[in-house]
Amino acid sequence: MNHVIIGNGIAGIQAAETIRYLDPTAFITLFAAESHPPYCRPMISLMLEGRISSDRLAIRNPHFYDDLQIRSIAGAYVTSIDVDAHAVTIDDHEPIFFDRLLIATGADPRTMKIPGHALNNIFPMRTVSHVENMLTDISTARHALVLGGGLVGFKAAYGLMRRNIPVTMLIRSEYPLSMQVDDIAGGMILDRLKANGLTVRTGIDALAFEGDSRVREAHLSDGSVLACDRVIVGKGVQPAVGFIPKDRIPVDLGVLVNTNMETGIPGIYAAGDVAECIDRVRQCPWINAIWPEAAMQGRVAGMNMAGRTVSYPGSLGRNVIRIFDLDVMTAGLINPEPDDGYQIYSRIEPRLPVYRKFVLKDNRLLGFILINRIETGGRLVSLIQRQFPLSASEMGILKTL
Ligand SMILES: Cc1cc2nc3c(=O)[nH]c(=O)nc-3n(C[C@H](O)[C@H](O)[C@H](O)COP(=O)(O)OP(=O)(O)OC[C@H]3O[C@@H](n4cnc5c(N)ncnc54)[C@H](O)[C@@H]3O)c2cc1C
Repeated sequence: MNHVIIGNGIAGIQAAETIRYLDPTAFITLFAAESHPPYCRPMISLMLEGRISSDRLAIRNPHFYDDLQIRSIAGAYVTSIDVDAHAVTIDDHEPIFFDRLLIATGADPRTMKIPGHALNNIFPMRTVSHVENMLTDISTARHALVLGGGLVGFKAAYGLMRRNIPVTMLIRSEYPLSMQVDDIAGGMILDRLKANGLTVRTGIDALAFEGDSRVREAHLSDGSVLACDRVIVGKGVQPAVGFIPKDRIPVDLGVLVNTNMETGIPGIYAAGDVAECIDRVRQCPWINAIWPEAAMQGRVAGMNMAGRTVSYPGSLGRNVIRIFDLDVMTAGLINPEPDDGYQIYSRIEPRLPVYRKFVLKDNRLLGFILINRIETGGRLVSLIQRQFPLSASEMGILKTL
């Protein structure tokens, strides 16, 4: 069997390992647009902080591909898929044929197509190379602007502050991490960011950048102008589907897959941030672009590609992050539509500070927010994944956590 995998992120790597484990004689070819060996993407912000160098990010040893007899083609961006011929191509090179194909191309950072967006010193933060570029001349930075108050924006701001660079964060919504928390938790996080020296401006965005070759200032939606010599754009990501023939392989926001991680075309699979599969609590196609789900999807895709029929149970969004002295853990549905039969239990102790919010329906746990004392988070995640109604004693425990 001839397997081709596009992407050497965690989804692609897990799939390749799984196929090799189940089929010692299979041919496996893996294309990777980046030339770095497989690395831990969530930790690239530690390079920005100055805590580690890029070689500490590796998630597999240097002999990994040889040991598993995987033909790895690094620095190779696949430009097209020929569904009928069962082949992938890089520009006008010879096609490479497959029996089974995995699309594991992850996501690209959203760009801002506003005047001045192509000036120097305006960076996305998705890859090791992005961070390496940011670090060039970092000692000359005087004032950084971070656009976006999500996980990436926060990690970027924190990294820059650790280098003693003053940072202003602009957030279009009214509070940070608005995809992960509610307004109460968001308010607590906002207070903590400000108390620790980050300038945060909410309900505002950049409309244009100005500078000669390098960015010098940003023009903001409230009419003000902000001097800045570094800009990090943390405006979320979009699945990397640009090269996929959408008239043949069904794509919504991401590549649509069934529970075997197979696309609408038999033999072609997708996994990780590029794939859109059922969300466990929403029960509709969704992308939860997080590391553990990408890893699991890669394993399930690999098993199915190798001939074992295995179902993926659906994805669950979840995150743990430390924001100065606040531990924040969230999972599942945390801001449901009102009046739709949800049961919501919440409790706040501002002085500690501690906050809890649990979202249930028909006594099934669908989501939660924990601020501080997050030790029970793992158990709560399994309660969501289990999807049985909670027993009376479990309900009682939730109300006292
Ligand atoms: C700064 C940052 C912080 C994060 N923090 C967290 C966190 O705290 N917790 C968490 O769970 N998740 C976090 N994430 C998200 C997590 O990193 C992703 O969910 C995960 O890496 C997705 O893995 P993947 O294999 O699907 O895709 P990726 O890791 O994006 O890998 C896809 C690979 O495919 C390559 N590729 C793309 N197109 C092509 C092509 N046409 N041809 C060849 N190769 C191609 C790409 O170059 C890339 O190397 C963070 C992400 C970032 C950027």
